[in-house]
Amino acid sequence: MAEKNIILTGDRPTGRLHLGHYVGSLKRRVELQNSGKFDAINILIADDQALTDNADNPAKIRDNIINVVLDYLSVGIDPSKTTICVQSALPALHALTFYYLNLVTTARLSRNPTVKAEIQMRGFADEGLPAGFFTYPVSQTADITAFDANVVPVGEDQLPMLEQAREIVEKFNKIYGETLVMPKAMIPENEFQRRLPGVDGKAKMSKSLGNCIYLSDTAATVKKQVNGKMYTDPLHIQVSDPGHTEGNVVFTYLDALCTDEHFAEYLPDYANLEEMKEHYRRGGLGDGTCKKFLINVLEETLSPIRAERAKWVQNIGDVYDIISTGTAKAVETTNATLARVRRAMKINYFEDRSIIKEWEELLKKADQ
Ligand code: ATP
Ligand code: MG
Repeated sequence: MAEKNIILTGDRPTGRLHLGHYVGSLKRRVELQNSGKFDAINILIADDQALTDNADNPAKIRDNIINVVLDYLSVGIDPSKTTICVQSALPALHALTFYYLNLVTTARLSRNPTVKAEIQMRGFADEGLPAGFFTYPVSQTADITAFDANVVPVGEDQLPMLEQAREIVEKFNKIYGETLVMPKAMIPENEFQRRLPGVDGKAKMSKSLGNCIYLSDTAATVKKQVNGKMYTDPLHIQVSDPGHTEGNVVFTYLDALCTDEHFAEYLPDYANLEEMKEHYRRGGLGDGTCKKFLINVLEETLSPIRAERAKWVQNIGDVYDIISTGTAKAVETTNATLARVRRAMKINYFEDRSIIKEWEELLKKADQ
């Protein structure tokens, strides 16, 4: 196999995409897409994975496929450079998952910290845990390996998934011979972008927690979220009081998003975030000023995305064609990997008739 640089990432179509997706993954995807350094870039809309914890609500998944694609197109994912495809239409992924399930133990799956946290969050610990949800890291390994991806740009919560994928790849190649490409996670260098908290300050902005600023939110909604939901420092009561910037969600967002150019444009009293933070810590800088600046920074990021989305919304037929073409291409890519896997596992009985000869010789030998 020739060494190639191939990307696979994806999202669950469980809702519109939010600012956490943008800073944790989408922004990077667009940069990588435009870098010209990759042989192939694939984005998977993981509708099957979304069903593992939404089996009773397939309509939610169906409705959100269009939202997620619109979000991709509006942040600058370019279908002429990036293949956008839908997981459920790629049967090779199901077959690969079935084989990989034999290469991982239930004990190992139980140790995945992200899945553990998600089980708690979804109440599966009490209600019963769907086996499909429990094993979704294995299906994610199928997604990654089916595209021969070596680079997987994701947020920090996905690191355990990549670790699991690497273990499965190693085991597969050891048993069946060098067949699968070893993937590597690529997480943001900025630590605040790896896991953006929710507007409520909770550990992670997440569709399932309802603490999001969505890429498609209106300017009025964004303003309301910042002014109404973001708690700053409870000890910073008077403007003159010294304030804390650590664990202060307004500053965490600024850490993740703002640049020196934003200061020059909207808050020229400071050259950069460090100067602003110093003033806040010293006392004398009000939360209102900080929030107003954050709203400006958010708007500069979100308003072009919103405008681009509005254009695509007028052409849903074109959007359909983009994912239908992308999916057809992905069917070929993933089928080729499955064929290679079956050959390696020696279960490619129907690829040609060569096994007839093998069986005949085997039976002859047994007769002797
Ligand atoms: P769900 O609640 O349905 O799991 P989610 O909001 O966690 O949804 P996913 O579709 O699971 O979103 O994640 C898609 C990608 O976005 C992953 O690479 C994930 O690491 C990244 N991501 C999600 N939330 C954040 C966040 N708050 N900060 C940084 N990256 C994030
Ligand atoms: Mg998630």
